[in-house]
Amino acid sequence: MGNFFNDGALVTATVLDRSISCSYCQGTVFGTRRIKLNTSGAEFFGFAWANRESLALICDRCGGLHEFLDGVVKTTAV
Ligand SMILES: [Zn+2]
Repeated sequence: MGNFFNDGALVTATVLDRSISCSYCQGTVFGTRRIKLNTSGAEFFGFAWANRESLALICDRCGGLHEFLDGVVKTTAV
């Protein structure tokens, strides 16, 4: 439990003012990683929205990954 991240990096998160819990284990504490969405193929396919970042929430309990577009999720340090 709680072995994936340093305590200081852990957050709880909300989307549309609703708390996010892990789809797999119902955990509510996550580590975060920012992920670049733009790839060399993105422009070819016309995905303008893809030139952005996403925010991945990684469940601190089970390691499950939940990915959201940048700016969608509000995080609060725990
Ligand atoms: Zn989980």
